[in-house]
Amino acid sequence: MEKLSIQDASRKLNISQRDVRKHIASGELKAERDPDSEHGRWLVVMPEGEWQDPFKTYLDELNSSITRWWWPNESKNGYVHYLEATGIENVEPDYLCGLRGENLWSAAGHTLTQRCIECLMRATEQGLPLFEEDLAKD
Ligand SMILES: [Zn+2]
Repeated sequence: MEKLSIQDASRKLNISQRDVRKHIASGELKAERDPDSEHGRWLVVMPEGEWQDPFKTYLDELNSSITRWWWPNESKNGYVHYLEATGIENVEPDYLCGLRGENLWSAAGHTLTQRCIECLMRATEQGLPLFEEDLAKD
């Protein structure tokens, strides 16, 4: 089993040293005192296989569960467009068809014919989820 210092573990797991400590405190990561260290420094017992920061996993799950279809205007006319990622950092949305919007409005309950055909084609080509369950029920 691999045991690394907090600094090395942080590099390997691609999270900050502060987050490594936080996960040790919460029990998410296992750690033990280095018996060879005079100062009793901590060694992180590296998790087997893939390990991802639970908060990042949560964000990824959240991102994949949020619909990608949005109205680009407040009056909700024309077409709904597809946003590839609804990241928090996306202040100005870039829709899949290349349209730029200043903001986005929920398109819950839109109909199939309201979908931008260019966005739909690109999403289908790229194998992106189409969120059929968001369509209005008839
Ligand atoms: Zn579009």
